[in-house]
Amino acid sequence: MNAPLNGTKPARASNSGDAVLDRYEPVIGLEVHCQLKTQTKLFCGCSTAFGAMPNHNTCPVCLGHPGVLPALNSEAVNFAIRFALAVGADIQETSVFARKQYFYPDLPKGYQITQYDLPYCTGGKLTLASGKTVRLIRAHLEEDAGKNVHGDESSYVDLNRAGVPLIEIVSHADIRTPEDAADYLKRLRSLVRSLEICDGNLEEGSFRCDANVSIRPRGQEKFGTRCEIKNLNSFRNIERAIKYEILRQADLLDHGQPVVQQTMLFDAASGKTHPMRSKEESHDYRYFPEPDLLPLRIDEARIQRQRETLPELPEAMARRFEEKHGLSAYDAAVLTSDKDLAGFYEAVVKRVGSAATEKIVANWVTSEYLREVNNRNWDLTNPPITADHLGELIELIGKSVISGRIAKTLFEEMAEKGPGKGPKAMVEAQGLIQVSDTSEIRNVVTKVLDANPEQLADYLGGRDKLFGFFVGQTMKVSGGKMNPQMVNDVLKELLDARRKG
Ligand SMILES: [Zn+2]
Repeated sequence: MNAPLNGTKPARASNSGDAVLDRYEPVIGLEVHCQLKTQTKLFCGCSTAFGAMPNHNTCPVCLGHPGVLPALNSEAVNFAIRFALAVGADIQETSVFARKQYFYPDLPKGYQITQYDLPYCTGGKLTLASGKTVRLIRAHLEEDAGKNVHGDESSYVDLNRAGVPLIEIVSHADIRTPEDAADYLKRLRSLVRSLEICDGNLEEGSFRCDANVSIRPRGQEKFGTRCEIKNLNSFRNIERAIKYEILRQADLLDHGQPVVQQTMLFDAASGKTHPMRSKEESHDYRYFPEPDLLPLRIDEARIQRQRETLPELPEAMARRFEEKHGLSAYDAAVLTSDKDLAGFYEAVVKRVGSAATEKIVANWVTSEYLREVNNRNWDLTNPPITADHLGELIELIGKSVISGRIAKTLFEEMAEKGPGKGPKAMVEAQGLIQVSDTSEIRNVVTKVLDANPEQLADYLGGRDKLFGFFVGQTMKVSGGKMNPQMVNDVLKELLDARRKG
């Protein structure tokens, strides 16, 4: 059974998501536009920097003036090769750029230069957290269009983005759940970031996704009619949009109505998809080979040069984390899902040294740290809590200077107020050093026993589970500062003595 489809309501369905998924199987394919992190555009020398004055980064080539000639950016081709290598795809020795014709104000040439029937890269695959494999159909190089900006009274065109290099990565329709769709995108993003070919910034549009969604009755082999959802700009919205679209299509089929093939827009505010236009067929674009560019030839020597400089990829890194740090497959996958997070973890491990195990560090990073990252929207490249400070905190627990409970409180304080001078200084300033002095612990335990004669009598009479009550009372009296293992030991010793006595 698939995960429930929470949080979405179809237009007029009485079906719950679970009931829909019992009867229909979703079929999902994804197209991702990934902006290559080159300094200049794909066919001219204009800067690709985000956030410049509108139309500042333009020239006659990307403005589509007559008589100009495109010149292919070699770095963009190298980045594209790196992607193909990382997903185990076939790199074509010869690929061809084509003109895709359509009219839109943000496309001054009246056509986009892309690769059509002969892309540079075919095949490849990506493995998901669930162990499933998603096959790739192709990836191709193309230029981005500009951007229309709609004001209150007028609309504007900003062509800074026109001609920026992209690779479009097209998957087979191998995905069956909205959760797997989101996981695929997270992994793809993590991959292109670790390859250092794309910054993966969804808000700035450098990693964009369109989803093709259809459903079919369970047991049926033939695919249903699909709709393409555009404008998916966060992982959460991708899941929401696909869930909504599944319920919308199920509702149509349940009422005997056909699903019409069309392009849908997702509206994040209402959580619904709306028809944008009927879906074009490729022949509408009148593709033909770009006459101003030679076919792209990629030789083996060039591929080899890129292969030699590939970094450690997320899957290989996850295997290393399992072996070297002794982590579970799950922890390794979480920690290597982002190269900055992986680097953070290894920096904390190094700082902690022998004071705690790598597993304990992994627990801190995947639970406490990641929770704050998500709640507070921290930037992983520059987190407010440094690896050095988290390492110092874990070391303080490992060396029994503070208890785990105090450590969690301190961590929350660090997250709330910023790093300050670090946990060691905080412990000293707030007098939080753990009590590990046996005689002091014996004093407190004795007082606790004397203050609770009824529970003590019950315990001595055989109610063993009251032991936890005495531990709790002792920790409470000491403000959580006593070494919990020592409290256990002392309590056991004193209670045993009273049982015998
Ligand atoms: Zn230009």
